[in-house]
Amino acid sequence: MLQIKDIRKQYHTGDLVQQALDGVSLEFRDNEFVAILGPSGSGKTTLLNIIGGLDRYDTGDLIINGVSTKKYKDRDWDAYRNHSIGFVFQSYNLITHQSILANVELALTLSGVPRSERRERATKMLDKVGLGNQIHKKPNQLSGGQMQRVAIARALVNDPDILLADEPTGALDTQTGIQVMELLKEVAEDRLVIMVTHNPELAEQYATRIIRVKDGRLLSDSRPLTEAERAQCAAEV
Ligand code: ADP
Ligand code: MG
Repeated sequence: MLQIKDIRKQYHTGDLVQQALDGVSLEFRDNEFVAILGPSGSGKTTLLNIIGGLDRYDTGDLIINGVSTKKYKDRDWDAYRNHSIGFVFQSYNLITHQSILANVELALTLSGVPRSERRERATKMLDKVGLGNQIHKKPNQLSGGQMQRVAIARALVNDPDILLADEPTGALDTQTGIQVMELLKEVAEDRLVIMVTHNPELAEQYATRIIRVKDGRLLSDSRPLTEAERAQCAAEV
């Protein structure tokens, strides 16, 4: 189980102090599709980045399978990011001058998978997202929806427990957005998916749980863990 406890995070820019997160606590099931909704500037990206180990909390704790990250060193964060987390961004973040196969293979290189395995695993994953016949194309030869599917393949190729997606359909038209949501829904069948979105309709339609945030705080949670679930998680650790 993934757990965050009373997380606070400030950003300092010159004299300005911005309280991005102001005491957020949440527990996530190993397998659910969570949508995080909230106005711009409410702390959604900060929350996702902290959960994914891309950014650090000031105070509070992120607890991974019962283990606090308070004493994590850089190499622990690296291992967590490389092996447990997949990340999908609104702007895809693909390397434009390399083939989509090379883009997906790179994720495997970073996590230390031997060369001999990389090509096969990357090809299989691109096949799974419906791009098996385009692996030698470069990102600029694809549509937005296809680029996002490459990004999802890249995020999944290391078989992470958790997929984090920050407004993954934000740059897509409605129909393409729906295709990406269908894919994420499938991904969420056997792992934890946490998705930030601006779009309440997509959240209602696809997510199994909706969390609303505002001004760095939790406003509502449609499906918090029950006492029984909490007890079970504690027993498993
Ligand atoms: P959201 O994703 O909900 O739009 P963010 O998490 O990006 O919100 O931002 C929350 C608040 O923290 C905003 O006020 C934003 O301006 C501020 N913030 C986010 N990242 C930074 C940063 N790197 N430096 C300074 N301020 C930041
Ligand atoms: Mg954001």
